[in-house]
Amino acid sequence: MSDTGYLPKEKIKDFLKELAKDAVVYAPCLEGDIVLFRPFSEERTLCLDRPANTPPKSVIYPQSETLFAFQYKKAPEDHQKMSVELKADIGVPNMVIFGARPCDAKGFRIYDRVFIETNTPDPYYRKRRENTLIVTLSCAAPSPGCFCVAVGGGPAHKEGSDVMMTELEGGYVIEPVTEKGRAILGKHVIEDGKPYLKDAQHVQAKAHDEVRNPFAPDELPKISQSLFNFDGFWEQVVGKCVSCGACTYLCPTCYCFNITDEQGIGSGERVRSWDACMFFHFTLEASGHNPRPTKFQRFKNRVGHKFIYYPEKYEGVIACCGCGRCIRYCPVNVDISEIVNYLKDTHQELHWASSRKEGTQPTVGSTKDE
Ligand code: SF4
Ligand code: SF4
Repeated sequence: MSDTGYLPKEKIKDFLKELAKDAVVYAPCLEGDIVLFRPFSEERTLCLDRPANTPPKSVIYPQSETLFAFQYKKAPEDHQKMSVELKADIGVPNMVIFGARPCDAKGFRIYDRVFIETNTPDPYYRKRRENTLIVTLSCAAPSPGCFCVAVGGGPAHKEGSDVMMTELEGGYVIEPVTEKGRAILGKHVIEDGKPYLKDAQHVQAKAHDEVRNPFAPDELPKISQSLFNFDGFWEQVVGKCVSCGACTYLCPTCYCFNITDEQGIGSGERVRSWDACMFFHFTLEASGHNPRPTKFQRFKNRVGHKFIYYPEKYEGVIACCGCGRCIRYCPVNVDISEIVNYLKDTHQELHWASSRKEGTQPTVGSTKDE
């Protein structure tokens, strides 16, 4: 069998049906004007011509999930004595994420380091991750806001994918990336893709050249600490943020969560739900003290986590895959790539330092429309 497959466009539904025999297949589907990952069925309209509005992160890392149920039990011999019975169910079906973009797959690698590659792996995340096959579609052209190449990725970057597809006029070239992904080549609708491989590589290289790199010529952005620690900079660049949290919810690399006990009489459930560092309550302590009470401190933490703290912990890996969603969908046009660009430029540091001395406000591009 050749190492490369080919899926003719007219057979894509047959292919999805074949995958669905053994797994729940999540694919990007049109809902009104937006594209969301949904369990695929014949009634849904598949949409592969642009990246989904939301990444497929909830398939492996649900927005809300029950970790376990608990029930208080009185001891029959002494009603003053109580015990708690716990029940956890982490049964997960086989799943396929079909048509994710390479940045979305790279996002799961950001999660893997936190939830799996640690001394205390998260059994819920790990089980879903192990049971999921990720079939990505390389991007033929960048979408507004994308900057994947500037943070170590690219429109055909394979990290996190099990299989990568590249679209040609009549079909998709299929390149397995992992052993798990190789099984795809055995599906009966898959033809030999070797004759098309060069064309696919050409499409990939062309797309790579078209993605903007706001941090060029640097290979990866390196943030200047003194500007990062200057509050006036943050006050100005995020002055127009409305703290809606959309940037964190749409981000394929944001993974903060909250845990709550949803309690009834004598029983309840412990639930984990996504949280967002852009919300005021995120770091609110029981005493009423909040170490990050202002939105500029919260945004500073968001950028710091992705571009300083995570890389410090995980061998320089930046916890942003450059998908551009936070830029495309921020209601007030806050642009994280523009902010990081300011932070890495030492000339900007001098510019801000001198304005600090003179008491003037330097102009930041991202706030010019205010
Ligand atoms: S999407 Fe924009 S306005 Fe909303 S929290 Fe993020 S930066 Fe602020
Ligand atoms: S920070 Fe923005 S560009 Fe980076 S991965 Fe998250 S949503 Fe995408």
